[in-house]
Amino acid sequence: MNQSFLSLGTNIEPRYEHLTNALKILEQNEYISIRGKSSIYETAPVGYTDQEDFLNMVVEISTSLSSFDLLSYCQYIENELGRVRNIRFGPRTIDLDILTFNHENSTVDSLQIPHPRMHERAFVLIPFAEIAPQMMVPTLEKSVEQLLKELHESDVKGVRKWVQDKGKKG
Ligand code: ADP
Ligand code: MG
Repeated sequence: MNQSFLSLGTNIEPRYEHLTNALKILEQNEYISIRGKSSIYETAPVGYTDQEDFLNMVVEISTSLSSFDLLSYCQYIENELGRVRNIRFGPRTIDLDILTFNHENSTVDSLQIPHPRMHERAFVLIPFAEIAPQMMVPTLEKSVEQLLKELHESDVKGVRKWVQDKGKKG
């Protein structure tokens, strides 16, 4: 069995539904089991700020798929969810990234593991550290918790735990 951590993000409503649907489709794959889930966090967009806030989370899975087959399945989920509500060529409703896959290192463009930008993203490291703080990240040779400590406080502050408003969907 392979162990992998995935990052999920969405900033198109209904955001909560997109996360839960993505998890549902992950679980529908007989070769994938979800082993752990972080809380859901809400993140103000960085860089291009003229867009809605994101919901982000990290999940731990075990899988007998190869890393490339897992990537294909993640892209299948993105397509499935994108197709439901969006106009053709509109923005994707969910982004699924492979953060780590065992202790493998992959450097081809189509699959870079560990994910090349994970160490600078508070919205990845905060949920990741919630479920696997001691996990050593290959090539960086630092734990998730260590990487999180190296972030600027201003980045960390932009990520807060999200509480679902029961009266409102999304
Ligand atoms: P981003 O996640 O950077 O916002 P996309 O989701 O559009 O952008 O991904 C673009 C490409 O990134 C995909 O075609 C995929 O092949 C590639 N890619 C490289 N490494 C990874 C990874 N670790 N997880 C997911 N996609 C990856
Ligand atoms: Mg992606």
